Amino acid sequence: MTDVIRESWLATKKSIRKKLKKGYVLLIVPNSKAPIRNLTIPYFIFLSFFILFGINLYFLVRYPFRISEIIKLEYKAYSLREVISKQDKALRRIDPCLRVTHDLEKKLNEQNRFYAEMEQQYNVVRNRKNRSNKNVSLVHLPQYTLSSTDQDFSKLGVLNNNLDYLEKEVEATSSSLNTLLAKYKDYDRQLDFTPTIWPVVHQRRISSGYGYRKHPVYKRRIKHQGVDIPTRYGTPVRATAEGKVTIAGSKGGYGLLVEINHGYGYKTRYGHNSRLIVKVGKWVKKGQIIAYAGSTGTSTGPHVHYEVRINNVPVNPRPYLK
Ligand SMILES: [Zn+2]
Repeated sequence: MTDVIRESWLATKKSIRKKLKKGYVLLIVPNSKAPIRNLTIPYFIFLSFFILFGINLYFLVRYPFRISEIIKLEYKAYSLREVISKQDKALRRIDPCLRVTHDLEKKLNEQNRFYAEMEQQYNVVRNRKNRSNKNVSLVHLPQYTLSSTDQDFSKLGVLNNNLDYLEKEVEATSSSLNTLLAKYKDYDRQLDFTPTIWPVVHQRRISSGYGYRKHPVYKRRIKHQGVDIPTRYGTPVRATAEGKVTIAGSKGGYGLLVEINHGYGYKTRYGHNSRLIVKVGKWVKKGQIIAYAGSTGTSTGPHVHYEVRINNVPVNPRPYLK
């Protein structure tokens, strides 16, 4: 069996050798009488020549296509470089923007401190309470640690987060400020209806206070329902708060009396006037002149008998004179 294989192998070898030995003869014929020369070209060189020729032809045909591809790629690279440079510029703008968010954080905190101050002031005015040290709610931008890779894009993320955070905080602060402003306005309006001023301008003296006293006319201890403010005859008497006139006329010991209903349970009375210039039902503003002082009714000299009533019960007017 092995002999058969060996023989067949030898035959193949022989045939290859034979083929390689095959070749072509190139005749070089001169146009003179010189002898003809011949050049033997072996088969494999001939074959190599055609292979090389074929390869060259392939690259020659492919070359123009490659050139156009290269031009396209060059153009793409150029546009990408443009995009990169634009993005670089944009990214360089992130740092200043980030700094602005930190400035805004500071400003917002200033506003929050101001708000806390105003709220405390409001509580002091409104409730006559002492200052309580309420904590100011301060804004703190979220802290991020940036990784070294992709830093510029992380910065953009931080910037966006900061802006979102600040937007919410600004909204919260402005809503708190609006609420406080509304409270102030309400209180301001309420103050219009609360007696706070003296009924006589340029007079800050009380000749007879509120409470039990020996009555100057009846000469016995009677509760004084208001305070007496000495005046000159004819001095203008002012409404101490806004409201509606409920009494305007002569009323017993009060003499010529004006009573104003201010709402919120408040009423004020002004007695012993010489002349009234308002009628029942008239709406009067705080500080508006309603009468002229005198000494009508049970009185020993010109003065204003001033009363403050809460739910129709006379109270000490002193705290309402400011
Ligand atoms: Zn009096």
